[in-house]
Amino acid sequence: MNLSKIEDITSLHRKICSCKLCDLSSGRTKAVPGEGPCPAKIMLIGEAPGREEDLTGRPFVGRAGRLLDRALFDAGLRRSEVFITSVVKCRPPKNRKPKHSEIAACHPYLEAQMKMLNPEVVCLMGNVAAQAILGMQGIAALRGRILHDRCLVTYHPAAVLRNKNLMDDFVSDLKKASGPY
Ligand code: SF4
Repeated sequence: MNLSKIEDITSLHRKICSCKLCDLSSGRTKAVPGEGPCPAKIMLIGEAPGREEDLTGRPFVGRAGRLLDRALFDAGLRRSEVFITSVVKCRPPKNRKPKHSEIAACHPYLEAQMKMLNPEVVCLMGNVAAQAILGMQGIAALRGRILHDRCLVTYHPAAVLRNKNLMDDFVSDLKKASGPY
């Protein structure tokens, strides 16, 4: 896929919304390109849209999204200050994990977003995001550290929703993302 002629984030997101590069396009209601300022100091990357995201076309608007909003607030950040997206832009059936082939098909969009946003910190929320960008997994060992100059691995909000004991660490990671570095 050649995205070199696409120069602004609005055009990129328009292309994502009509994309049929992988099978996830056939089951989606709406693609979820992501939202936030461009350029952005902080970029948050999750795994994939869920049911409410698929219906609205907006990232992290379900229960995990509400938890993310609260964690951002507790970390002294506003949602409007960060750009939020995910590794794949269309919802996998029954919220299964995205397949390697789907992640690979969607990766040029994520790369193009990273280039356009030029964030100081990229928060990789969960193993799927860590694997897609760093080629590494293992949140317990990776989280809370700045890796590869600007990547910070943390929990996925859905994991924090399942285990509220992770909330303090999640907030602390988001605080770290807000700097100073
Ligand atoms: S997940 Fe990505 S590559 Fe697959 S159809 Fe959606 S936008 Fe295209």
